Order: sequence, then structure tokens, then C-alpha cells
Amino acid sequence: MKTDFLIVGQGLAGSLLAWHFLDAGKRVLVVDRDEAETSSKVAAGLVTPLAGGRFHLPDGLEERLDFARSFYWKHEELSGEVFFHHRRIARLFRDALEAEVWKNRLDRESGRYARFHGPLQVDAERISAPWGGFEMREGGWLDVPAFLEYTRRVLLERVSYAIGQVDSREILTSASSIRWKNVEASHVVFCEGWRGGQNRFFDWVPVRPTPGDILDLEIAGLGDETRILNKGGWLIPLGDGRFRAGSTYRPVGATAEVSAIGRDEVLAKIALMTSLTPAVTGHRCAIRPTIRRSQVFMGRHPSEPRIAFFNGLGSKGVLNGPWHASRLADHLLSGAPLPAATDLLLHFH
Ligand SMILES: Cc1cc2nc3c(=O)[nH]c(=O)nc-3n(C[C@H](O)[C@H](O)[C@H](O)COP(=O)(O)OP(=O)(O)OC[C@H]3O[C@@H](n4cnc5c(N)ncnc54)[C@H](O)[C@@H]3O)c2cc1C
Repeated sequence: MKTDFLIVGQGLAGSLLAWHFLDAGKRVLVVDRDEAETSSKVAAGLVTPLAGGRFHLPDGLEERLDFARSFYWKHEELSGEVFFHHRRIARLFRDALEAEVWKNRLDRESGRYARFHGPLQVDAERISAPWGGFEMREGGWLDVPAFLEYTRRVLLERVSYAIGQVDSREILTSASSIRWKNVEASHVVFCEGWRGGQNRFFDWVPVRPTPGDILDLEIAGLGDETRILNKGGWLIPLGDGRFRAGSTYRPVGATAEVSAIGRDEVLAKIALMTSLTPAVTGHRCAIRPTIRRSQVFMGRHPSEPRIAFFNGLGSKGVLNGPWHASRLADHLLSGAPLPAATDLLLHFH
């Protein structure tokens, strides 16, 4: 079989990249291990424009956010399904210091921040906000598993998907092509998530496997809340009193097994947001691919430029991923330069 791009891994990274190549009229073959619990399948899919306790608004965030939303909406139109759930986020301050940091942000940069916030109202009987907070706009969550499943369906229809494991030692290069088993490809792009650092071509990239937990909860008395609650942890309303809650950041290299420690850590975060008692109905754990915080890294192999890498989506993968995938696709298709902040070769080689 001949293809233009062999994409290894159909998590969020591989799926996004596949769409950009398909849109450019290229042939792709996506090969995935088809595991039950992967970072993309377990992820909450949150898009939080002002993340972290300093409410930093990084340069380029608005462009990436608008790009991501247009991308997901386009695929909602094509599929007739809903993937992106636009939700306001009730951002509750954790302490007086956070409230002060936010006040200073608004005093100094109110114009830049105007799009992203509004006043917060909460029912103090149910939601705990002693230091106040604000309502963060332009956020929401992507149903990542539904988006992956739709992508896989389309790839299957185009005979562009296979279940399997690509061992990087089985990739053979020659002047005319790259071979993997009976596949002859012009390019190979590794989108292997946390396994990316075990790849023989890219074992010099410090991919840090960072496991995390997510719970499914039922909270009687909070069923009418439509906003995502965020205060260290987060709580996503799914309707009928059901919520998704998270998450933890276990130490790099820790196991990704479901445990009482992980469950209790998430529940402790939820207890800071509401005095209502949740019932745990589900618990999942998976390994995030983290390279440097939530920074994406991508690019070609230094001596074999037909082999490339796309990884590190981290906790902002849903927001940043579509824009970065389009930059990498442009780079591989037409030689457009990569953004310096994400260029693998500038940082690690
Ligand atoms: C608990 C938790 C909560 C999260 N919450 C959020 C959130 O709210 N918002 C957000 O944006 N992000 C969140 N994330 C992070 C998010 O999951 C990542 O940004 C993104 O999904 C990573 O996608 P990926 O494709 O790089 O990796 P993965 O999802 O790990 O996908 C890699 C795929 O490649 C396959 N694979 C690997 N090696 C091979 C091989 N050699 N051959 C074939 N197949 C292979 C794997 O089986 C897998 O399917 C969360 C993650 C976790 C764990």
C-alpha cells in the first residue's frame, strides 16, 4: 500500500493532523494501538482560556482559540454531531492572593481581558466562593472520545485506518521511500502520546509520562448548574445531576492504575467548591504526554526529514492542538517555518 503520510497514533494529535492532510488532498494511513484508556480517551477536554492561578493570557491565545473553535464547529457541521460544548466557567478564587492577582490583571490590562470575563453570581448555600471569583467566557469542553470516533469512522470509510503497533525499529528508509511492513510512505509522523519518548528516532525528546485521574460523579442538589466550576480542580456538568470531575497530576512515571488515593485527591478538590456530597459513579486514569509544561513540540527528524514528531499537547491540547497541527501540516507540505516556540530542533537537538 502506498500513502503520502503514515501517521502513528490516533489520539487527539494524530486525528488533528490527519484532518489537515486530508483537507490538503493527501493520502493518509493512520495506525493506532486501539487501547481502551489513553490520554485522549480519558481527557476532560476542557478549554480554559485563563488557566492557572496567575490568569496569564499568552500571546497568540486568541488566534489559537478561534482556530480551534472554527475547526471543531466545521466538523460538527460535516458530521451532524456535537463535539464542542460551549460553557461559561465559574472561576472561584482559591484564596485572597488569587483575588488580588486577578484585580491587578484587570487594573493593568482590562482591554486584553475584556472578552474573557463577566461578573460571577453563585448560590452560597451550594457553591463555596468566600474570596469571590469571576465568570470566565469563551471556554467549554470537547467530547474528545466522540471526536476521535468520528475521525476514525471517516478514516475507515477512506481505507485510511488500521489497528496495529508501529515499532520504530521496523521503519526502513531508502532514498525513494519509507517502508513499514507492506506500507510505502513519503512521510511518517509519530503522534504516540506518552510513548513518544521511547521511539528510536526521537528518544532525545524528554516526553514525561504524567498520569492523571478523572471521576464521574452524581451530586444531588446541583443538577441545575450549567457552568463548569473551577477552583484548583474542576467540575463539568453533564446534565441530570451528573458531573465529570478532575483531575490529578501524579508524579512523572507513576502507574496509571485507578486507586483510592487518586479518587480522594479529586474529591478533596471538589469539596473546596461545594459542600454537597458527591456519589462516585466512575473513575478513570490515563497518562498525559507532557514535554515542557503544556507546550507542544513538533518537527522533522534532524537527519531524516521525512520522519516527523507531534507531541506534548498536555492539558491545553484541545485548545492549542488544531492550530499547531495546521502549522506542522503546512511545514511538511510546503516547507513553511514552524513557530520557534514549538520547533523540536531549536529546543532539544
Ligand atoms: C486525566 C487527564 C485529564 C486531561 N484533561 C484535559 C483537558 O481538560 N483539556 C485538554 O486539552 N487536555 C486534557 N488532557 C490532556 C489530553 O489528553 C492531551 O492533550 C491529548 O489528548 C494528548 O493526545 P495525544 O494524541 O498526543 O496522545 P494520546 O491520547 O496518548 O494518543 C496517542 C495514541 O497513539 C497510540 N500509539 C502510541 N504509540 C503507538 C505505536 N507505536 N503504534 C501505534 N499506535 C500507537 C496510542 O494507543 C494512542 O491511541 C488530560 C489528560 C488526562 C490524562
